[in-house]
Amino acid sequence: MDRLLDLVVRLGREFSRRGMREECRRLRLYYLALEHGLCAGKNRIEVAWDEDLVVEWLRILQVPPHHGHYPARPSTLCARCEHRPGTVVTKLVFPGGARMECLQCGARWIRID
Ligand SMILES: [Zn+2]
Repeated sequence: MDRLLDLVVRLGREFSRRGMREECRRLRLYYLALEHGLCAGKNRIEVAWDEDLVVEWLRILQVPPHHGHYPARPSTLCARCEHRPGTVVTKLVFPGGARMECLQCGARWIRID
């Protein structure tokens, strides 16, 4: 639990640094729910956050210890499929970049703006 709280704090700092206010507010509520043991049982809080989402955001925003998960580069083109158009989709946009995915080969990477 302490490990997850630490990851949540790291992610909150990165959201704040990038001016992602809505995500910050939701994550703060998730932190409080975790801290007070409210994430299970009758006092359950319905927050659209969980541990997997914390880790995924840390990967997307390149925050340690998950900074090396996705390759990061400025291109919207898939490195494996060369320059075939129409196979790459933007899965998620954030201040400073986006998470890209190639529908042809399944490659995922972070596009740095
Ligand atoms: Zn590809």
